[in-house]
Amino acid sequence: MHKPLRIAAIAAACALTGGVLYGAGAATAGQSTANSTHEPYNIGLLVKDIDTYYGTTADANGVYQASSDSPYAKDLARLDSAARKYINQAARKAHHRGEKPAVMFDIDDTLLLSLDYEKRYNYTYNGTTWADYVNKADRPGVFGSAELVRYAESKGVEVFYNSGLSEAQRTAAVENLKKIGADVNLDADHMFLKDKANPPAYLSACATPGTWTCTTVQYKSGTRKHIEDDLGYEIVANFGDQYSDLDGGYADRTYKLPNPTYFVG
Ligand SMILES: [Mg+2]
Repeated sequence: MHKPLRIAAIAAACALTGGVLYGAGAATAGQSTANSTHEPYNIGLLVKDIDTYYGTTADANGVYQASSDSPYAKDLARLDSAARKYINQAARKAHHRGEKPAVMFDIDDTLLLSLDYEKRYNYTYNGTTWADYVNKADRPGVFGSAELVRYAESKGVEVFYNSGLSEAQRTAAVENLKKIGADVNLDADHMFLKDKANPPAYLSACATPGTWTCTTVQYKSGTRKHIEDDLGYEIVANFGDQYSDLDGGYADRTYKLPNPTYFVG
């Protein structure tokens, strides 16, 4: 995922630390570019702020973990509580109307937390180290997200995944999601990953075999359009940690999970 236009949070996201936006229409709010003309927030203090926000501690194996009583965890708990209420209502309405309700989840830092990677590599991205990290399939879950996946399923809502991870990372993604308890619809009909070599026909406006020019928003919203228009589902809620997960329509409501550690445009 992270590859195109990924900007380290350290350069871009000072305003977000400690904040969480969620709810309908929030997807385009907040910072979307790094265009500050005044002196940016001090990088050393920002790193400390991020550690405080996650309640970051190294475990016995030296792996950085977020704390379950951190401001990050509390923001997620508020978001999850609101989302459950909404999903319950939206599912009932959809079933009443004879619609097929669905929810969409991004994977990286929406379901699987990459805090250890980000802190270890100073919030910068490298394709090789990132691939190694993903392939270990040992990321912890984002607090509450696996429970939310299972809650949606329990309400008769079809769970889909929409990720910038590549087809080559599918096995590791499935293994890791099982490990955190998000063991719902982890098949290729429900988990949409980036297939640059053989892109699906519904992305033909920006991708043909061997030529991929889709932005994250084009890729992700194009996938949601396919699920709604071709597969006949009504996506009632879409969950992501980046605005580019949420922009572009084809979801009744968007939920922006907090992530002050990097920015994907
Ligand atoms: Mg993500």
